[in-house]
Amino acid sequence: MIRLDNITLTFPDGDTRITAVNNVTLTGHPGTVTGITGPSGSGKSSLLAVAATLIRPDAGQLLIDDVDATRLTAGEATEMRRDKIGIVFQQSNLIPSLTAREQLAVMNELGAAHSRRNRRSVAERAGMLLDAVGLADQADKRPHQLSGGQRQRVNIARALMNDPSVLLIDEPTSALDQERGASIIELILRLTDELNTSTLLVTHDLVHLPRMHGVVTLVDGKIVDSLPTAATAGPRTAQS
Ligand code: ADP
Ligand code: MG
Repeated sequence: MIRLDNITLTFPDGDTRITAVNNVTLTGHPGTVTGITGPSGSGKSSLLAVAATLIRPDAGQLLIDDVDATRLTAGEATEMRRDKIGIVFQQSNLIPSLTAREQLAVMNELGAAHSRRNRRSVAERAGMLLDAVGLADQADKRPHQLSGGQRQRVNIARALMNDPSVLLIDEPTSALDQERGASIIELILRLTDELNTSTLLVTHDLVHLPRMHGVVTLVDGKIVDSLPTAATAGPRTAQS
């Protein structure tokens, strides 16, 4: 579970500060996708960066599986990010020289030696995830040999490699056409259900919002509208 509680984040702006996130509270439950929407500059990516423990907020609490991440040291936050949080950034940051399979396997090298899995279980998980995102037969291709949609699927599979409880995804459909975008959203909904992640999904594409379990709308860093999450509405099926 992820809970953001009265989060405020400001950035320096000349002599003053700009408020990117203004007193935002939201909860993401396991097995649900919470959409975060709003116009460009409304604070969506900033909010996700706080949720990812990449930026410490000026005020508020970030609870990940009941641990307050705003109180962790930088080292502890790195560990939490590695073990509990899967992140898909707006720009794809795949490594050009690595195959899809290797992009996933390399995630295992980032942790402390004691937390690394053996090579075989890494290969098994990478294979399972590439299969789950529909790329079993593309596993040995490098990013330039894949389409934009396929690269986004690799990004999503990689974010799931360490079995995170929280999945954070920023504008996954922005570079894709409507049909490919819709199939990425379907994929995120299905993986969230299957892997029971608490998923926060930033999108400004309104057509996708009805598929989500909850939606918050930001304007100028503030929540202006918020629909119920699955905790009260009940999860939707893939057909609904
Ligand atoms: P969105 O993702 O909704 O487009 P952002 O979170 O990127 O919005 O930006 C929210 C506001 O914060 C904008 O006014 C933006 O210019 C500002 N901002 C974002 N990141 C930084 C930064 N690193 N330094 C200064 N201002 C920033
Ligand atoms: Mg953004």
